[in-house]
Amino acid sequence: MTLVSLEPMFIKVYRDGAFTGVQRMEQADGLTFLCPKCFGTYQMHWIRIWRPHVSTNILPGPGRWEFVGTGLSDLTLRASHTQDLKTESKCKAHFAIRNGKIEML
Ligand SMILES: [Zn+2]
Repeated sequence: MTLVSLEPMFIKVYRDGAFTGVQRMEQADGLTFLCPKCFGTYQMHWIRIWRPHVSTNILPGPGRWEFVGTGLSDLTLRASHTQDLKTESKCKAHFAIRNGKIEML
């Protein structure tokens, strides 16, 4: 499964936690995309992640991920301690994004 197939969008955050889509990775504070575990089911939902410079007051957190790559098609999400993404959602999705591909863990 690729990240691109999960309708990803780079996002920019405002001080109050609201956010808006942006075109370019360089402008982005974070990323939103459909949950790879729940994709195609009636429980389908969005996942949102933030880059390290975003205030820890902005949820979800405290995890923060840096973007490595040139765009959505080859994106790797890298945290300081782990590459794994564990979501706070009920589905407990656990995965990594490496080189634009979703790896379920
Ligand atoms: Zn899910």
